[in-house]
Amino acid sequence: MAKVLTVGEILVEIVATTKGSGFLEAQPLIGPFPSGAPAIFIDQVGKLGTPCAILGRVGGDDFGQLNLDRLRADGVDVSGVEIAHGETTGSAFVRYREDGSRVFVFNIANAACGTLPATPNGRAVMESCTHMHVMGTALSAPGLAERAMEAIAVVKGNGGTLSFDPNLRPEILGTPGLREALDEVLAQTDLFLPSGDEIFLFTKARTEAEAVAELLARGVGEIVIKRGAEGASHFNAAGRTEAAPIAVEEIDPTGAGDCFGGAFVSFWVNGADPASALAHANAAGARAVTQLGPMEGTSTLAELASLLSASETA
Ligand code: ATP
Ligand code: MG
Repeated sequence: MAKVLTVGEILVEIVATTKGSGFLEAQPLIGPFPSGAPAIFIDQVGKLGTPCAILGRVGGDDFGQLNLDRLRADGVDVSGVEIAHGETTGSAFVRYREDGSRVFVFNIANAACGTLPATPNGRAVMESCTHMHVMGTALSAPGLAERAMEAIAVVKGNGGTLSFDPNLRPEILGTPGLREALDEVLAQTDLFLPSGDEIFLFTKARTEAEAVAELLARGVGEIVIKRGAEGASHFNAAGRTEAAPIAVEEIDPTGAGDCFGGAFVSFWVNGADPASALAHANAAGARAVTQLGPMEGTSTLAELASLLSASETA
């Protein structure tokens, strides 16, 4: 049976309830919400009933507990998550500007989630999985990147598959060694899930079509491009499939890409055809933006089915 693994940061997110340019004065906030791109991704996989696990670190505090409780409740194996007593769970404060862009204050690299030593538990979890999903954010801290690379080697060495979402925020692009790590991951990727311009990260191609053709020729089996409120597209050797956006009211776009990826991978590892995986992932991304809080918009199969049938009859 398929089991999906990811490695990376488990955080809480605290959201400003008003829009503006940052955190330079006292203001109303709401949170903590469970968060971290890999954690949101794996929570979505778990909610769809696909066996899955995450490797990461939290502090011995309420923020860590809040995350572990949520992930467990949604079916994620957290037996390889290390609780670092005396350390603090990572956090991100986010405020939206009027133009929709976001300002972050991160406490990640120096928090419990910024490192991930090898442990026997962690190794056992890697050996139990048939698919590994890499979030680019997990490659931005050296301690985490080492563990992600180990997980790729174990899962692929056991005949498993690899998916990759670059998920690169401008803040992490300058990380030393990141470029090399990204190249190494892409070379082993079966399913690539970039957003917008990330399709150009690994090619000098000028157009999207050329970039897609080049990556497929280099051995990436399937590519899914996320296009925010414009929907998504899937490409493989057989051609191209589109998902038109589902009309929803956007409350909070954070986490849409992670929910989309979790749903796509969940269907993909269970052998669904690309059109079905894409339609469900598109619905998962659309549902995600309707909820405040990054992990609050993960979906069950019934919720996706109901949104899809409502959008077909609309
Ligand atoms: P993030 O990294 O912030 O989580 P992302 O850039 O990786 O996001 P997006 O492209 O923003 O990912 O969103 C992923 C998918 O979710 C889109 O391809 C689309 O299918 C769906 N989606 C996102 N925003 C909307 C929206 N406003 N309306 C309908 N569907 C949306
Ligand atoms: Mg993304």
